This record gives sequence, structure tokens and C-alpha cells, in this order.
Amino acid sequence: MPEPLTPGELLALDRQHVWHPYGPMPGRQEPLLVASASGVRLRLAEPVEGVGELIDGMSSWWSAVHGYNHPVLNEAAQAQLGRMSHVMFGGLTHEPAVRLAARLVEITPEGLEHVFLADSGSVSVEVAVKMCLQYWRSAGRPEKRRLMTWRGGYHGDTWQPMAVCDPDGGMHELWSGALPKHVFADAPPALSAGPEAVAAYAAHLRETLAAHAHELAAVIVEPVVQGAGGMRFHDPALLRVLRDACDEHDVLLVFDEIATGFGRTGRLFAADHAGVTPDVMCLGKALTGGYLTMAATLCTTRVADGISRGEVPVLAHGPTFMGNPLAAAVANASIDLLLGQDWQTEVKRIETGLRDGLAEAAELPGVRDVRVLGAIGVVQLDHEVDVAAATRAVVREGVWLRPFRDLLYVMPPYVTTDEDVARVCAAVRAAARIA
Ligand SMILES: *Cc1c(COP(=O)(O)O)cnc(C)c1O
Repeated sequence: MPEPLTPGELLALDRQHVWHPYGPMPGRQEPLLVASASGVRLRLAEPVEGVGELIDGMSSWWSAVHGYNHPVLNEAAQAQLGRMSHVMFGGLTHEPAVRLAARLVEITPEGLEHVFLADSGSVSVEVAVKMCLQYWRSAGRPEKRRLMTWRGGYHGDTWQPMAVCDPDGGMHELWSGALPKHVFADAPPALSAGPEAVAAYAAHLRETLAAHAHELAAVIVEPVVQGAGGMRFHDPALLRVLRDACDEHDVLLVFDEIATGFGRTGRLFAADHAGVTPDVMCLGKALTGGYLTMAATLCTTRVADGISRGEVPVLAHGPTFMGNPLAAAVANASIDLLLGQDWQTEVKRIETGLRDGLAEAAELPGVRDVRVLGAIGVVQLDHEVDVAAATRAVVREGVWLRPFRDLLYVMPPYVTTDEDVARVCAAVRAAARIA
């Protein structure tokens, strides 16, 4: 065992050497040092603001739906570790990956038949884009290589995903000339906007798609909830509009369900709100219950056959850790755990708790909007959040949140009790008052 380091030493080394998400070097804000996590609680290595334990309102970025240190997921990981934690996927296969792929085909919208197991959400989006471009190349239409999306989206931080993130939120200015230029429709109207706004927007979507169809490989969107691009909800009817317009104009449709998958919006997949099957679908985040990094790109037989008919009849992608057995075994256990319980009731219960707990935030000065969908709660301010002040405020309430831009938002694990949901909401209100 190496010499133990004190919390102070660890934080000093962190500051000196370790890059954190979207951070400068050295970091501006000191991160909280987590020693362990169990259920919905993060245990800090030493108390901060007099608090040693925090209720996690973030599910570690949409992923830890069953909470931390879950006996069933631990058991699955340990059993698989005793067999093998990894073997290459080229020329070899194994039960955890085969089972997972078959299970994903079974539970995702009808028609998605083939599964590419990747190692992160961003990579699964890269693979989705590659599938679509290669499909049209194989069909002898290589000019169909642009993508269309709507503003306000987020699809990851590697190159192709970044190019379809919201141009402002994704800092496209910084990359002008370097990023591929795709087609952006306006952001979809809010779920509360009403049928006229939805109809007008649907017409805008159809027109934009029709005008560019000759050069479009695919439309890619996050269905129902735009996550890291702004935590906005839209009418599921727009997914049907996209499906019909894509079919009419020979364009593929990709749903990025990396954030919305596995029950977060109240349906198992957000596509289920509209009964739409995309041609390609990305999954990640909650896939392994937040234990390990893994993502999946699913596609229809039409897409797979199309690629295989081409001049290069293979999908030219193969990450080193593709199909990782340890992650696949935990993913299988996590899906069994989710579907083996009445998860809809749990998500509904959290939705009710969030509606009750966040409603009065709407009355606070500086609050522009409060919205809740499934186990997602959002308080949007009329100004940028002071992240440091907001973090202190929620930590004092015994809660962990990570606000961004003008958004205080929560997506608690599905196992969060009513009492803990109420505490998370109280923390959001406290942050809204000072931040
Ligand atoms: C988080 C996220 C991604 C990127 O996934 P990573 O695992 O962070 O690479 C892509 N799309 C959506 C909708 C996401 O929420």
C-alpha cells in the first residue's frame, strides 16, 4: 500500500496536476474530496461547511440511477472480475456483451436490431455519425454527408458530437474553420408553449430539412429533453414530425438517448413518448447504473445492410475496450434491477416530490422558470448562476448539485426517498435565493 495522503495533500496535488471537466489549469474552484459513496449519499473526506455527507441530486451526471455501492451491482462486478475484467473484442466474444446486446434490442423501440458497444457516450455519437455517412456512401450518394440538428442540443465533447452541439453553448466560434459546418434549425419551443407554437415550429423543421435533404446524411437530436445544452423539454409530437420528414426526404434519423434513456423522463426511452423508432440510437450514462463507462449505438437492419453493401462493407470502428465484459456484466445487472421493479412508480413519485418542492421557487426574485419532467427538475434563473456561492449554499443544506449557466437542476437517483427529495428541493430554493 502506498503512504496515505491527507485530504490537504490530495487537494494540493489535484490543484497542481489534475484537469477537471471544463476547467482551467490550475482550477479556479477547489473540488470536494469524496471518500466513499453509498445509497444516495456522498461521504466527504473531511467536512465542508460543517457537513460531512451530501445527498447526491445529480446521479453523477444522469448515470447512478440505483444509487452508489448497490449490493446487486457490486455482486455482478465482483463475479465478473473473478472471470475476466477485459478481453479484446476483435475475433473474440463473451456472454456479458452478447446478453447485453440482445437485451438492448429487446427493450429499445421495435426495429433497432444491431448493437455497437462503445466506451463512452461521445464515442457512441461518433459511431452513429459514421454509420449514417457510410450508409449514404455505400448507397452511392457520398454528397449526403452533412447533419441537421436543432439549436440548444448537447451530444458530447469529441469532434463530431461537438459540431452538432448548440453553436453558442458549444463555443463553435472558438473552432470556426476547424469544425464541420452542419445545418441548425431553431431550438424547439418549450413544452409549455402550446399547439400553435408547435405547429409553426414543425413547419420550420420540415422546410429546413427539405431545403438541405440533398446534402443531409442524418438528423440528430436528443428526444424530449435537451440536457447539457440547456435542460429544455419539448413536445414529443416533434419526433413524429422529424420521422415523417426524414422518411419523405431520404434522410436518416438519430436519437441521442444518452441522458434520457433508462426511465429518466418517465418512459423507458424518450422515443417511447412518441412511439417513434429512429434509424440509429445512442445510449450511455445510466447504461451501467453509473458504475463503469460504456455506451451503445443501435441501428436498424436497413442501416446495417446498407453499410454492408458498400465498397467498404464493414463498419470501420473498433475501440480497444469495445464490449468490456466488466461494464457489460454491470449493465446487465443494472437493467435487470431497473426492469425487475416498478420503476415507473418510483420516477413518478420523484416527479411529484420535485413538483411540490420546486413550485415555490417560481415565486423567488430572479427565477425565470421552473419545470419538471420525470425525475428531472429545473429552476432557470434570469442571470448566470454564481457556481461557487450556489455550491456553498446547497452543501450547507447537505446536498450536492452542479449548476451551470443560468440553471439550477436536479436528477436524483430513483432510490431517493421522499424526505431526501424534499431536502434536495430545499437546497435548490436556498441556492436560488442567493445565487
Ligand atoms: C453526456 C452526453 C453525451 C456524451 O457522453 P459522454 O459519456 O460524456 O461522452 C452525449 N449526448 C448526450 C445527450 C449526453 O447527455
